[in-house]
Amino acid sequence: MARKPLIAGNWKMNLNHLEAISLVQKIAFSLPEKYFDKVDVTVIPPFTDIRSVQTLVEGDKLLLTYGAQDVSSEDKGAFTGEISGSMLAKLGCTFVVVGHSERRTLHSEDDAVVLAKTKAALKNGLTPIVCIGEGLNIREAGEHVAYNVTQLRGSLSGLSADDISKIVIAYEPVWAIGTGRVASASDAQEVCGAIREELKALSSDEVAAGVRVLYGGSVNAKNVGEIVGQPDVDGALVGGASLKADEFATLSAIA
Ligand code: PEP
Repeated sequence: MARKPLIAGNWKMNLNHLEAISLVQKIAFSLPEKYFDKVDVTVIPPFTDIRSVQTLVEGDKLLLTYGAQDVSSEDKGAFTGEISGSMLAKLGCTFVVVGHSERRTLHSEDDAVVLAKTKAALKNGLTPIVCIGEGLNIREAGEHVAYNVTQLRGSLSGLSADDISKIVIAYEPVWAIGTGRVASASDAQEVCGAIREELKALSSDEVAAGVRVLYGGSVNAKNVGEIVGQPDVDGALVGGASLKADEFATLSAIA
């Protein structure tokens, strides 16, 4: 099954809503409409920027989509500081990142929390981008494939094949995030291929063949081509390089 590549720009805690408008305008200007036939492009700003991005995207009928960096596992109520899936859906979000390594590490989010957030996203019609990835010690011990498969199983535990068909997986080795140390294309393929094999076991061959598996970790315009050229890598989750309009547009066009 042909899978359309997805390039997702995770802005993390960068850019206020005015800077967000400026960046999205520049990306849209640098990425002619014809590219959207072959690649889906999405930006993932901080919560406080989303309404401004929505106004711009809808007002100018831009073809790029947008999403959020996190979602509450709860529907509503006394959860100070949390943002619900229905709030994000109302803002027109398409995607929501769940289980980013910074959330797993800095906010102690384990697979059970990631699973609950994945369910909350699906319940509200959002596409979760479920992140998994090993630390350097696991990679150096040669246990990275087994580690990622276990994390995938824990993060998707009990989901139906239909649910799994609606998600995106992002393989992001922790040692490559924000470090400038990108995984080799064959390293990315090794784990993304293993992820697809496990998705077959968790759903079906047909569903697994349709799920987009992204690579993330120091992706830029120079290395994206080789990485997304791998058979089981269907795009990239991009941090630092997504804050530079020219580079993000260029790497999206290459994908
Ligand atoms: C990320 O934060 O998801 C990421 C991949 O960051 P960077 O591209 O900066 O490594």
